[in-house]
Amino acid sequence: TPASSQAPWAWFDGRMVSLDSPQAPLTTHAMHYGSGVFEGIRSYATDDGGAAVFRLPEHMERMRKGAVLLGIDFDVAQASEAVLQTLRANQHRDAYIRPLAWLGSGTIGLDVAPLTQHLMVATIAQPVHLAGKAARLGVSGWRRNPAKSLPPLKLCGGYINSVLAKREAKQRGFDEALFVDDEGVVVECTGANVFMVKDGAITAARHADALDGITRATLIELTGATSRPVSLEELKQADEVFVCGTAAEVAPIASLDDVVFGENPVTREFQALYARIVRGQDARFAHWLTTV
Ligand code: PMP
Repeated sequence: TPASSQAPWAWFDGRMVSLDSPQAPLTTHAMHYGSGVFEGIRSYATDDGGAAVFRLPEHMERMRKGAVLLGIDFDVAQASEAVLQTLRANQHRDAYIRPLAWLGSGTIGLDVAPLTQHLMVATIAQPVHLAGKAARLGVSGWRRNPAKSLPPLKLCGGYINSVLAKREAKQRGFDEALFVDDEGVVVECTGANVFMVKDGAITAARHADALDGITRATLIELTGATSRPVSLEELKQADEVFVCGTAAEVAPIASLDDVVFGENPVTREFQALYARIVRGQDARFAHWLTTV
């Protein structure tokens, strides 16, 4: 492991390198066509002074699925080890972890067979911001990528859809965009899944075009939430709305278009529970943690 004084380090094609030193050819396929797949993972400081990665195998399995679609060879064991090595080299504990596998150079055409393949892992120190302000959500004018055109995996090019919706939301004075489909059924946000609380019942909005979120699955297991399609009408009448994702964790929603929600007591309770579990403070869920 390199000396941490030269941090930040990144794992790049089998070696630890200084994060900013690699140069990609200008013909890099992924830069032109979005032909790559990434993950967003988090590690958390644990009480013993170490750190643990939350649900690493699940993130790696989702990344593998995306890589298979793109014809990228992906070794889950190697990528998992790269994540741990990068965290150790950077001495990061509370961190956001960004692995990326992509197609490099060899052709400017669309047949991926001649292309070089690459893998990197960067980690970004990220103090946790659980007490953050509740977000103002606006219904997007954009539609989510339909799953029949682009499967809801973390394929780089697909995220242009999220970039457009996020830009529109910001331009209209919202913090975040909510995608709904042509029938007015809730899909998800640009980087998080949607839940609601109504009369004590917890519901996870389900949609074929939404990413199958690992935080969503975690919260369904923890809260016993029902996973089913939710209309925008129904969401607007909820007592509480929250979104969840690796980066967002459990994030309360203050308003949706012109509908203002009240206090978020149930959301705050799940937020606190999630915070304990990811830090290894709840032994029942120790199997979700990979020690760094
Ligand atoms: N939806 C989208 C579009 C996302 O990018 C993310 C973040 N990966 C999520 C939902 C939440 O997924 P997860 O809980 O697996 O991070």
